[in-house]
Amino acid sequence: MTQSIPKVAIIGGGPAGLMAAEALLSSAVEVHLFDAMPSLGRKFLMAGKSGLNLTHSETLDPFLTRFGEASPLLAPAIRAADPQALRDWAAALGVETFIGSSGRVFPNDFKAAPLLRAWLKRLRGQGLVTHVRHCWLGWTTSGALLFETPSGRVEIEADATVLALGGASWPELGSDARWTTWLEARGIGIAPFRPANCGFDVAWSEHMRTRFAGAPVKSVVLSFGSESHRGEFVISENGIEGSGVYALSASLRDALAEKDAATLTLDLAPDRSLERLTADLSRPRKGQSMANFLRKAAGIEGVKAALLRECLPAEAFSDPATLARGIKALPLKLEATRPIAEAISSAGGIPFAELDGDFMLKKLPGIFCAGEMLDWEAPTGGYLLTACFATGRAAGLGAARWLERRA
Ligand SMILES: Cc1cc2nc3c(=O)[nH]c(=O)nc-3n(C[C@H](O)[C@H](O)[C@H](O)COP(=O)(O)OP(=O)(O)OC[C@H]3O[C@@H](n4cnc5c(N)ncnc54)[C@H](O)[C@@H]3O)c2cc1C
Repeated sequence: MTQSIPKVAIIGGGPAGLMAAEALLSSAVEVHLFDAMPSLGRKFLMAGKSGLNLTHSETLDPFLTRFGEASPLLAPAIRAADPQALRDWAAALGVETFIGSSGRVFPNDFKAAPLLRAWLKRLRGQGLVTHVRHCWLGWTTSGALLFETPSGRVEIEADATVLALGGASWPELGSDARWTTWLEARGIGIAPFRPANCGFDVAWSEHMRTRFAGAPVKSVVLSFGSESHRGEFVISENGIEGSGVYALSASLRDALAEKDAATLTLDLAPDRSLERLTADLSRPRKGQSMANFLRKAAGIEGVKAALLRECLPAEAFSDPATLARGIKALPLKLEATRPIAEAISSAGGIPFAELDGDFMLKKLPGIFCAGEMLDWEAPTGGYLLTACFATGRAAGLGAARWLERRA
């Protein structure tokens, strides 16, 4: 008697879905990958535009803490596909990586396209069948997967399914979170999506908006509550964005949601103590303009000087001690979180309580989930991609095991 080969459908061709495919292709299964977009890995390619921070070089214990409450739930998957394994995997695809000064890991050429190209070639060579322009619309009443395609609706029967549909940021790249409807209809709880690694609105004056939108604010310390981060950020037309802001964005977002208010504190001169700044600013001005005096005495100029003008009352400039305190702890009031469509990533999605240890939905046996569609969040630094790859692999291996048990 011949046994038919089980068929697995993976829906979503981002890092998580592709890694699930890679894990499944080593089993005796037929693997089909579907994506709504005309090509695969669009968000991954977009990540390449800013250098493709693939992972982070810090040791695993601190690495795992970056996922907050989700750390213990993600840990087994990440330990089994850790940052070094990811670097080895990229190297096997012909893409060597290096550790940047911040400990972040990048491909030598900072690009995503060569890695994606080599990966897709290898996956297709191993038997992966890809179907683009297939937008998943949930299940039919008989349990088949339903897709909208350019030639009409198509029903696909699969023995197991891996959903890797992404979060809710940058929907134009494919992850529009419409899938929440189909899963909620089948009784799966979904934590509301919220922006993560996002910017914030600030009520800039017209002068600030028109003169400084796009200006980087370098070498500052940003603080909120007990968290602080040394780095840089960018003034945008509506407010602030960039890596320094993203590092604190989860706490700022939650404070805005809870209290409708959040004030970020900026140290514009982190390498000078308050005492030294006070002394420097107490020197006689000798007829210099305030702009010249600030530049010469305190090294504050350009966008930093504009921020001081924006956030301090005029009287502060006539008192050296108050001015020094303002430079060391400038209060910047945030009005709102920027929309999720602009965020680098999203928090929310399918809670871990809905999943078993193999990333299978407890209420829907045979349906596995991976990547950013799960309810976890992490700062930028390569943590996002690492977790997407790791959960994709775990879900793929879980699906293979589940099929094996049923054979
Ligand atoms: C500008 C930018 C820069 C980034 N830079 C980095 C970085 O340097 N380092 C890092 O770690 N992370 C970075 N990220 C985040 C990282 O890219 C994502 O976390 C990661 O791509 C998520 O992978 P995923 O496979 O879960 O989902 P996605 O990559 O979003 O893939 C989901 C796929 O599912 C498909 N899909 C969705 N719904 C359907 C449907 N109904 N039917 C069929 N297909 C569907 C989509 O078309 C998409 O291809 C960046 C993100 C952005 C926006």
